[in-house]
Amino acid sequence: MSSSKENLDEEKEREAPTTSNDSENTRDESLEDTASKFSLAGLERYLAEKMSLFDTDKKSAQSSEDKILDDVSIDGIVDYLKKKDCKNIITMAGAGISTSAGIPDFRSLNTGLYYNLQKYNLPHPQSIFELDFFQKNPKPFFVLAKELCPGMFKPTVCHYFIRLLNEKGLLLRHYTQNVDSLERVAGIPEDKLVEAHGTFFTGHCLRCRAEYSLEWMKERIFKDEVPKCEKCNKGVVKPDIIFFGENLPEKFYDCVDKDFKQCDLLIILGSSLVVHPFAGLISMPPSKTPRLLINRKKVGQRTGIMAMIGLPGGLDFDRKDNTRDVFWSGDCDDGCQLLADKLGWGEELKKLVQEEHQKIEKNKL
Ligand SMILES: [Zn+2]
Repeated sequence: MSSSKENLDEEKEREAPTTSNDSENTRDESLEDTASKFSLAGLERYLAEKMSLFDTDKKSAQSSEDKILDDVSIDGIVDYLKKKDCKNIITMAGAGISTSAGIPDFRSLNTGLYYNLQKYNLPHPQSIFELDFFQKNPKPFFVLAKELCPGMFKPTVCHYFIRLLNEKGLLLRHYTQNVDSLERVAGIPEDKLVEAHGTFFTGHCLRCRAEYSLEWMKERIFKDEVPKCEKCNKGVVKPDIIFFGENLPEKFYDCVDKDFKQCDLLIILGSSLVVHPFAGLISMPPSKTPRLLINRKKVGQRTGIMAMIGLPGGLDFDRKDNTRDVFWSGDCDDGCQLLADKLGWGEELKKLVQEEHQKIEKNKL
């Protein structure tokens, strides 16, 4: 608490018990008097000061300077982006950005994929992504891998929007939870990409660590073989996607360290923000960096006691004085197209998607 507050307390002590203006000395007064002197707001303010939760005078004086977005909406984000000349945007994505490409959210239990795997007697669906189980029985994983193999799907509007952000010099980094490699297919350069849960693009022998390419693995996976290492002739080659209990790639930690302190806008796309440490990234940008969530559901919110005592952390859409966090409800493609439209790149994005999709179709033939 500030020194002026301490002075005030001293004054109160000196004046006691004669003054009637001090809240501590109103106990003997009639209720009516008390009510006239202390509005509910005043009482709240007094209690907050007494409990040292925050300095209310300072807070109200600063509130206009503290305002981050003039308008807590997608328009506010676009204004901010233009006015502040953002150059260090971080995008974070989950399965929601790939669903429109036809990729099932394969960690969720409600997809047909797991149904197809019943014949393999998995102890539970997640066993497919457990190293112990994989070492004993890699077959179910490769059945799934065949369905998810890169090259089978076309990146979405959202993926190309992120590529445009990069081409406009605005993207610091794209962090993805997805292992579908659609970011790479969309043309987001590898150095701008952190594949937090790994990638199918490379694979390693579990015994001798020899590295293999996607093409090499694909050839075998599509023949319904379990890829075996040609160097040691013993190990199974596992695509470099992160299994349960495995460490995240080093690049994740290296980039998080240097990126987030520079982040001037965070855009979170299609993630339920439940898988850690990825989900925790939302609390890493500086406290005045706006955060936009484009998702079907409101997620990642600060809850309970954390919110009550004003600790930083999760997203804070519903706080009365929120000028930082924006939630846009809907599909990632629609949200990104809307953002592009408002930034004046709408047609450019549509053209890019069309041209790139045509290229991919041609290569398939
Ligand atoms: Zn090997």
